[in-house]
Amino acid sequence: MIRIGQGFDVHAFGEGDHITLGGVNIPHDRGLVAHSDGDVLIHALCDALLGAVALGDIGRHFPDSDDQYRGIDSRQLLRHVIDLLRSAGWRLGNADLTVVTQSPRVSPHVSAMVELLAADCDCLPKQINIKATTTERLGFTGRGEGIACYAVVLVVAV
Ligand code: MG
Repeated sequence: MIRIGQGFDVHAFGEGDHITLGGVNIPHDRGLVAHSDGDVLIHALCDALLGAVALGDIGRHFPDSDDQYRGIDSRQLLRHVIDLLRSAGWRLGNADLTVVTQSPRVSPHVSAMVELLAADCDCLPKQINIKATTTERLGFTGRGEGIACYAVVLVVAV
């Protein structure tokens, strides 16, 4: 038995000197505006995982009106989502993640992100693929206003 899930998230650039993406801190001339650490990659992944097993979305489990999630490390949220999946009898089969941003360059950090996410998802690095694209300077990502991320996952019954 397998199920598929998809997730999408966006965060706007704001004040700051780094972004957190896939658990990795990347120096940048701006940060991301968020209630949490703004890890748009992990948020999209969490939504895809929750979607695959019909457990709603990240906002339902970790409401941004709740102060306990202010500034939280999104890897904690991901590990909690994986626990929920495990309890429901599922594990991650594979995840394919696409970061959409004009800057900073993501590719130098992909292998570090994969290692961290595989640890959090209790899977092998080869089960997680991260790629990045620009939008050729078109749209809000192309204008450098924010970062978007798409996630697709397959989950497998344990
Ligand atoms: Mg988010």
